Amino acid sequence: MNLPDDAPLVGVLALQGDVHEHEVVLNRVGARVRRVRRAEHLDGLDGIVVPGGESTTIGKMLRRFDLLDDLAARLAGGLPALGTCAGMILLSRELDQDFDQPLLGVLGVRTRRNAFGRQVDSFDTSLDVAGIDGGPVDVSFIRAPVVVEVLDDDVEVLAAVDLGPVVVRQRNLLATSFHPEVTGDDRLHAGWVATLGS
Ligand code: GLN
Repeated sequence: MNLPDDAPLVGVLALQGDVHEHEVVLNRVGARVRRVRRAEHLDGLDGIVVPGGESTTIGKMLRRFDLLDDLAARLAGGLPALGTCAGMILLSRELDQDFDQPLLGVLGVRTRRNAFGRQVDSFDTSLDVAGIDGGPVDVSFIRAPVVVEVLDDDVEVLAAVDLGPVVVRQRNLLATSFHPEVTGDDRLHAGWVATLGS
């Protein structure tokens, strides 16, 4: 897709998970996209998407590709991020589980993986998200996590379900439990991209 050179440049962490789906939506809402697999791919980005997939795998690959510390430092330094599903898990400072896995650890929440059950319990729904106009957003919960505890005062809960918060924002970090990139409803990406410097 031809996008102007001054369109925001968004990285998509491309180690595992639904990289392509995010790229398609990001292009549709006017962002240029770069796949991020090495630390130098982080240079010059206006934002980065940490996609859904399998958080343990992505965490281990972040370490193996020598990206974990660099990406965490960029995020701590203010690089805007959108983390979806496994991406929310990886951004979280703490997990509600009894084994360690590599985390970026920059978002002040405690998160529970697979909070809605197993694959067969995955579901599509629509949900009011604070700041997104035009009615509930169509989203897909696929073995989704939930925030079980907000750890910092400046974490804003933008959407919640019975189990807890499913969209949270802290400064430069936005995280969703669900997949917004597979339903054709682009408003969450569009709203996020609109906040990025060009
Ligand atoms: N259940 C996965 C995990 O814990 C996340 C699922 C997803 O990203 N759709 O990493």
